[in-house]
Amino acid sequence: MSHLSFLRAIKRSDNRSFLKTSVKWIVLNLTIAIIYHMSAKLSVDFATLPNKISAVWLPSGLTTAWLAWFGIGRTVPGIFLGVMVGLVMDLPSLSGLSLLFLGVMITLGDSLQPIVIISAIRRIGPLSSLFNHVHSVTIFILMTLVGPALSATLGVTALAIVQTSTREQYGISWITWCLASTLANLLFTPLLLLWRQRSPLNVKSNWIERGILIGLILGLSGLMFGLNSPVEYMFLPLLIWSAFRSGSFFTTSLIALISMIAIPMTAKGIGPFTTRSVNESLLLLQSFIAICSVTNILLIAAIHERKVAELALERTMASLEQQVEIRTSELQESKSILDSFFASAPLGLGIINDDLQYVQVNHRLADFDGRSIVDHLGQTIQQVSPDWAASLIPMYEQVLLTGQPILNQEETRTTLDQPELPRTWLMSYFPIVTHDLISKVGFIVMEISDRKRLEQQLKRQARQDPLTSLSNRLHFKEVSESEWRRCQRSGQPFSIILMDIDYFKRYNDTYGHLAGDACLVQVASLLKTVGARSGDLVVRFGGEEFLVMLPGTDAIGAQHVADVIRQRLKDAQIPHSGSEVGADVTLSMGVVICVPDGTLQMDEVIQKADEALYESKRLGRDRMTIVTIES
Ligand code: GH3
Ligand code: MG
Ligand code: MG
Repeated sequence: MSHLSFLRAIKRSDNRSFLKTSVKWIVLNLTIAIIYHMSAKLSVDFATLPNKISAVWLPSGLTTAWLAWFGIGRTVPGIFLGVMVGLVMDLPSLSGLSLLFLGVMITLGDSLQPIVIISAIRRIGPLSSLFNHVHSVTIFILMTLVGPALSATLGVTALAIVQTSTREQYGISWITWCLASTLANLLFTPLLLLWRQRSPLNVKSNWIERGILIGLILGLSGLMFGLNSPVEYMFLPLLIWSAFRSGSFFTTSLIALISMIAIPMTAKGIGPFTTRSVNESLLLLQSFIAICSVTNILLIAAIHERKVAELALERTMASLEQQVEIRTSELQESKSILDSFFASAPLGLGIINDDLQYVQVNHRLADFDGRSIVDHLGQTIQQVSPDWAASLIPMYEQVLLTGQPILNQEETRTTLDQPELPRTWLMSYFPIVTHDLISKVGFIVMEISDRKRLEQQLKRQARQDPLTSLSNRLHFKEVSESEWRRCQRSGQPFSIILMDIDYFKRYNDTYGHLAGDACLVQVASLLKTVGARSGDLVVRFGGEEFLVMLPGTDAIGAQHVADVIRQRLKDAQIPHSGSEVGADVTLSMGVVICVPDGTLQMDEVIQKADEALYESKRLGRDRMTIVTIES
């Protein structure tokens, strides 16, 4: 498609839409003019006063709704046309200029009136929710007084200028015009606007109830205008009932119905509003309709506000309930997780309160104490496990007092079921804080007996020679230091015998390494039989070197022990064909006796023993050399 044809197409479519809009505008304004004229005629038919001013000026109610729906541009020409048609028909005696002047003034008044009402309401909120709030309804009611006052001033003044009416006529005409417009706004504007936004929120009644209401209204009207009974205010309870049960649109329609009956009846001089003066009758009727209308729209707004508040409250309650439900199930879930954790943890778990009573314990802990869970709850530690009370209570009290946990405390004891086997437990105590207060103490108990035994075994093994099961040098170092200090304190002598198998290399060479091991084991078992006093210690000091520590033993004693060893070895007669000192295995010894004092060191004693041993070797082996260190 070329640019030109494209632009033409746009133009064509523009023309079409302009034509469509124009036709719509003309049809709307013509419709407005016709309805305006017809409603004006209808109002004039109820006329009771000179200048054909009626009780309810129907067009005023319509113009407000039209302006609200279509805006000024699409309404005012229609209104003007309607006004002009009415004037031409009603006042044919007037000149064309007077008619135009009147028409412009009345149109101006009829347009200004709804503009004032609508713009005042739009200032406080959207028009669609006008009848839902007491505040906006109050503004609306006030504006239905201000707007018609403007319209009446313009209209009545124009009429007075054209028809030169008296001052008295002006006043009455102004008041009646004003009230008629106000009433139209109070009666028909709500009806039209509510019709477009009927809200099911307000409606509770069914068609039977509504039928009864209409019946009662008609009955009351019959009483009022047929039998001339002064029952006009009986309408109010019916309208209140309707407002509560049948909603705003239906109730407003009922008021319109009452008005449609009351106005022509009163115009004909029938009913309780009729007095001697026509003006007075009209005022009575108008105030009755105004009271009904104002009561109705205020009540409906109040009901709506209450309903909205109720709904909001209900919604809040529902969401609160939902939240409570969710929170409850979350809490239950976390409680059941915690309970399950508590129940199936492979540790003893418990909680005690500040009276040192058990609050919660799990099966594992109950098993430790040999009682059921129930036997624990509410009982004190003293009652449940008196044996443990002395060691546990200070721990709990300390945690309660300081708020600091106590971790990994070991408790070793024997139990009645296995008195020969000590058992060890690892215990931790920690504070449980609620509302910033240490209210309880939690504790964890784990049995570590097996681990402890293994640990002790490893400790032992680390200090033991695996071949001969004698103590090794590490153990000797630890034990000798304390024994050395003990002798130092008590002034007792301290002796050691250091010995070395003679020609052991040759033993290995002759009999093999395994046999050499067996020989070492045999010599070791021999050595174990000496040094029976407490504190004596036999040590595998090196490959085929042994040491016997004899704290508290003097030279005579040490020499005796050395003699016994040599004698026992001799008696054992372990063959050693490679030896140059005899047929059997022999030992060379270095014996040192001292009295530990502040100056002498343990290392010096071993050094001396080594020297003495070397001396024995040098002198021919299978002998001992005794050295006494004098302090
Ligand atoms: P001496 O009389 O001078 O002490 O001569 P020796 O042959 O005993 O001297 P040496 O210290 O030279 O040799 C010690 C030997 O002991 C060397 C080593 O093979 C042997 N030995 C050390 N520990 C072990 C062991 O655990 N098992 C065996 N079978 N032999 C060992
Ligand atoms: Mg050696
Ligand atoms: Mg040797």
